[in-house]
Amino acid sequence: MTVSVTFCGAAGGVTGSCYLLRTDGGDIIVDCGMFQGSKTVRELNYGAFPFKAADIRGVLLTHAHIDHSGLLPKLVKAGFNGPIYATEPTCDLLTYMLPDSGYIQETEVERLNRRNVRRGRPEVTPIYTREDAEKTLKRLQPVDYHEWREVLPGLRVRYWDAGHLLGSASIEVEVDDEAPDGEPRTLRLLFSGDIGTGEAVFNDAPEGPKNIDYLFVESTYGDRNRPEVSDAERREMLAVEVRAAIQAGGNLVIPSFAVARTQELLVDLATLFNRGKLPKADVFVDSPLAQRATEVFAKHLSHDDARGLAHPNFHMVPDAEASMQLARVKSGAIILSASGMCDAGRIRYHLKNNLWRPESTVLMVGFQAAGSLGRVLQGGAKHVRIHGDEIDVRARIRTLDIYSGHADQDMLLRWTKERMPVSRRIFLTHGEDGARAGLQQAMINAGIEESKIALPMLDDTVMLKRGQAKQAEFKPRLPAGEMSRDDWHNRYAHSVTELSEKLRALDSNEKREALLEKVLQDIASA
Ligand SMILES: [Zn+2]
Repeated sequence: MTVSVTFCGAAGGVTGSCYLLRTDGGDIIVDCGMFQGSKTVRELNYGAFPFKAADIRGVLLTHAHIDHSGLLPKLVKAGFNGPIYATEPTCDLLTYMLPDSGYIQETEVERLNRRNVRRGRPEVTPIYTREDAEKTLKRLQPVDYHEWREVLPGLRVRYWDAGHLLGSASIEVEVDDEAPDGEPRTLRLLFSGDIGTGEAVFNDAPEGPKNIDYLFVESTYGDRNRPEVSDAERREMLAVEVRAAIQAGGNLVIPSFAVARTQELLVDLATLFNRGKLPKADVFVDSPLAQRATEVFAKHLSHDDARGLAHPNFHMVPDAEASMQLARVKSGAIILSASGMCDAGRIRYHLKNNLWRPESTVLMVGFQAAGSLGRVLQGGAKHVRIHGDEIDVRARIRTLDIYSGHADQDMLLRWTKERMPVSRRIFLTHGEDGARAGLQQAMINAGIEESKIALPMLDDTVMLKRGQAKQAEFKPRLPAGEMSRDDWHNRYAHSVTELSEKLRALDSNEKREALLEKVLQDIASA
């Protein structure tokens, strides 16, 4: 009997979640997420999977977020033919999210190819299309929380509410095994998925089983504790930001994950409007996916929770043309658009239209992965490139870290302790290097043996029975650390900006030419 796990994503970074679980009964994967962040990291989406898609017998999906589900259509395109197990709300959300993602892949590549033709570069094909996404939906198999289901001979799974997003789950896996003396025994694994805070607008507290052999825990906020805020305090903090933005005289642009984050913001904004805490302002929801997701939330939520999703000030932007027309609105509008990390989608147009205006405000309300445009803006960049255009950043860039769907350090620690005893190993995944190290230290301080905690890197393989790492069967696709930092594209953009600012600051053309000459000499001798 052999059981192994390969970390095919979200190891040393927060995106691209995917575990390959190999057993004698067959191979399955847990999650199949898209990589987000720097260009170097995103290029992984175009490369081959580190396994044969046709050999995979099933997918266990923790939740609908694109960094966990976004490469499912690529898996199907590559020949995967098995069931995808997910809770019913997750299936409902995917019905809209995957085709939307396919559409984004198609349009982004179309735009890129128009540029590539002009620059004499080869054309690119999309990772997958809307049609691939539609085919993927046919593979979905709804599962209920708390009920065991046999997915392969000798392999059972049970889903627990992770409290992170509508339908989100931690997944318990039992594999039939035998002890050294031949006695039958069971190997118990638990994949946390993303763990919620227990305080979010729509979610319950995360739960899970006890007594695990191998625990896989996310660590997105592993090095941070957020202040505890009540519903009223959270709304007041949002109101302060919105009022300041309106007072500044421009628009307020909020990059927001279409699913969950947008709906949470809508409910809070509706409450603030109704209680007279905000002046009347038009709120534009410019994401077709957010509109669909709002309908799914309305279906699965109680009547009271769902009521805040509509308000006379809210306007759903119907199509791309209406989205373009928002460029004419110069002040007083609140624009919610996706993607949440500013990497793709309509938000990039709104940033292009508003970043250069000093009276505009951009408010970050979600986690921004290393290398993503959102993180670059948070870092104080003065210029950014969007769709190949250089844009000056003069807008106010603000961050409100109270809407996260992720547990912070204390909550992750509490969740882990509730799973005890863990007999063999705790793997920390889904966190950038600093966050993971922070959670590791916190666990050690809390009395968990250091030797029990492992920090796997991308494409590492671990033999679970013997509890020791086996030689990786393939070369890691990225060097260690790459998923936690800016890549050369980010640094290149920064260097160009530095040079152009330096040139402008010099007081004569002679000095400018001398500087350029020096730079060119360095380049020539490199
Ligand atoms: Zn998530």
